[in-house]
Amino acid sequence: MSITVSQVSKKFGNFQALDQIDLTVEPGTLVALLGPSGSGKSTLLRTIAGLETPDTGKITINHRDATHLDIRKRNIGFVFQHYALFKHLTVRQNIAFGLDIRKKPRKLIKQKVEELLELIQLQGFGDRYPSQLSGGQRQRVALARALAVQPEVLLLDEPFGALDAKVRQELRNWLRRLHDEVHLTSLFVTHDREEAMAVADKIVVMNQGRIEQIGTPAEVYDRPANPFVMSFVGEVN
Ligand code: ADP
Ligand code: MG
Repeated sequence: MSITVSQVSKKFGNFQALDQIDLTVEPGTLVALLGPSGSGKSTLLRTIAGLETPDTGKITINHRDATHLDIRKRNIGFVFQHYALFKHLTVRQNIAFGLDIRKKPRKLIKQKVEELLELIQLQGFGDRYPSQLSGGQRQRVALARALAVQPEVLLLDEPFGALDAKVRQELRNWLRRLHDEVHLTSLFVTHDREEAMAVADKIVVMNQGRIEQIGTPAEVYDRPANPFVMSFVGEVN
């Protein structure tokens, strides 16, 4: 699945949150949207997801115009930092949620959930409640829940933001592994330079609603396009 964003702009009142964004995400790549707070990363992700409508411009998903397509028809999975698991549902029920609401056959749901529990290596944890899991385990369940409906595009907004440094590192490796194993096209938002450098195939550096540079981690690091990228990427956390 490829994603293209052409000349997308979005204002909130007088504030230009996205300013003529052009971006192509190649199928199978893991792309990081990196930039300071307020640079428009979440707005761009939400626009691709269909949670915001652009004022102007066009979005295509797999060469199909998706600019005004209903969110449920975009075949997208989400993981958000604050998009918590359902507390009153077990791990199994959480993972099954998207399949249940789509009224999939019981047998298929059961099989799919077991497959996903194995994928995130939480086989013995299916009957636990979220409160009985660590933060890292919970986000692995959130990943499994997003993958249950077999999306071809996975969008993640600061998915590991609330976790401590060691768990973040572990989860970024999980993301990389799941992305590769499930053959996804993934776009994730982060303000963490090191995280972007470590896992992404490509980095999109954003600032004030604009894209400053798109490149591989090495390109962005070795050949920053302008002083903004140089200072933002070069800064020590
Ligand atoms: P980032 O994710 O890079 O921190 P956002 O995309 O969330 O940035 O926000 C970019 C700017 O747009 C911010 O200044 C934010 O306050 C503003 N903004 C985002 N969503 C809304 C909204 N629904 N209404 C008004 N302003 C918004
Ligand atoms: Mg954000």
